[in-house]
Amino acid sequence: MSPIVYAFPVFLVTMGVEALIARRRGLAIYDVPDAVTSLQTGMLSQIAGVFARLLTFALYVAVYDRFAAGTWPTDNILLWGVALLLYDFCYYWNHRLNHEVGVLWAGHVVHHNSEYYNLSTALRQSSTSWVIGWIFTLPLAVLGVPPVMLATVGLIDLLYQYWVHTQLVGRIGWFEKILVSPSNHRVHHGQNDYCIDRNYGGILIIWDRMFGTYADERAVEPVVFGVKKPLASFNPVWANLHYWAELTGASWRASGWRAKLGVWLAPPGGWPDGPQPDFDAAGFRRFDRHTPTALRWYVLGHYAVINLMLAHFLASLDRLGMAQQVGYAVVMTAMMLVLGGLLEGRAWARSAEVVRLLALAGATLLPDWFGFAAPPGVRAALVAAALVSALWLMRRPARVVQAA
Ligand SMILES: [Zn+2]
Ligand SMILES: [Zn+2]
Repeated sequence: MSPIVYAFPVFLVTMGVEALIARRRGLAIYDVPDAVTSLQTGMLSQIAGVFARLLTFALYVAVYDRFAAGTWPTDNILLWGVALLLYDFCYYWNHRLNHEVGVLWAGHVVHHNSEYYNLSTALRQSSTSWVIGWIFTLPLAVLGVPPVMLATVGLIDLLYQYWVHTQLVGRIGWFEKILVSPSNHRVHHGQNDYCIDRNYGGILIIWDRMFGTYADERAVEPVVFGVKKPLASFNPVWANLHYWAELTGASWRASGWRAKLGVWLAPPGGWPDGPQPDFDAAGFRRFDRHTPTALRWYVLGHYAVINLMLAHFLASLDRLGMAQQVGYAVVMTAMMLVLGGLLEGRAWARSAEVVRLLALAGATLLPDWFGFAAPPGVRAALVAAALVSALWLMRRPARVVQAA
C-alpha cells in the first residue's frame, strides 16, 4: 500500500486545526474553492504518480543496475542520512531549474498557482513534473543509492515540506538559517519582485545560501502569493495543463526551429530585451467566482467522498489489474472535474453533477466497487446521500450555478 495513505488523516486534522486557529485570529488564509482545488490537485498527483512511477522507478532501477558505482548497505543508518542529504541537494537543482526553464516550469507551476498559502497548498502537487523530474535522481543511482533508499528519502523530503506551508508560524531564529521554514518558504511562493526565483531548498535552506538564491522574508513588504500569469480556474486538470498549453501555443506561433525550441527552454518570464515592470501589490486581485457558501460546503463534502475513494484506490493497487486501475483513475478524475466546474459556476456543471450523483447511486447495485463489497447499510446511506444531494442541487436557483 502507498505509505502516503497513512498521512491522509494527519493532513486532514492539521488543516482543520490550522483553519480553526486562523479563524479565531481573524486571518483569512483559507478559501474553500482554492483549498478544494489544492486538495483535488493533490489527489490527481497521487493518481498520476501511480502510473508515472511504473516508468520512472523502472528507469531508476535500470540505471542503478547498470551503472551503480557500488551498493550501499541499507542497514547503516549513517548512509540513510547521507542519501537524504544527497537527495536534498539534487532536489535543490531540480527545483531551481523548475523555475528557470519553461518546460520544467510547466510541470511545477501547479504548486504555485494558488493565491493563498496554507497547509492545503502543500498538497497542490504536480501530475506532470515526473516527465523530466526523474532525470534529477539519476546521480543517486550512479552513486549506488538502492531504489528502496531513494523512494524512502524522497518521501521524507516531500513530507518535511508539508508543515512549512503555513502563515501561522512566524520567524523562528537560527532554525531557518539551516532548514526550510514557513517564513523562508513563504518567500518562495511570493510573486513580489524580491521573491522571484528564491529559496528552492527542500529540507535544507543552506543550498540557497551557498548558491546565491536566498532571500529573507520582509516584514514591510508582505508576500503576495501566486504566479504572475494567474490560473484563474478551479479545474484540477487545467491547473496541470495550462502552462503546457501556453508553451505549445507560443512554440506553434514562433517562426523558425530555434525560436520554437527556445520557447521551451526560456525562463517562464521569457527572454525580455528590456527591464520587466515591477510587481504591483496594490493592484493584485485574487481569483474569485463568488461561489455561494452552501455550494462551497457541498463541494467540500463530496470532495471527502472522492478522497475516501482515493484512499481505497491506493490501498487496493496490488489487487487491481491495470485496466481496473485506469478505470478507477478515470472515474475519480471525472468526478473532480465536475466539482471544479461547480466551484466555477459553470452552466454545464449542475447537470453533470446530477448525472454523477445518479451514477454514484446506481453503482451501489454493483456486486462490488473495485473489489470493495460495501455492507447494505453503507449502500443505503450512499443512495440516500446521492438522492438528497441531487434534489438539493436541482432546487437551487439556476443563476447560482451558472457562469458569471
Ligand atoms: Zn517552486
Ligand atoms: Zn511550496
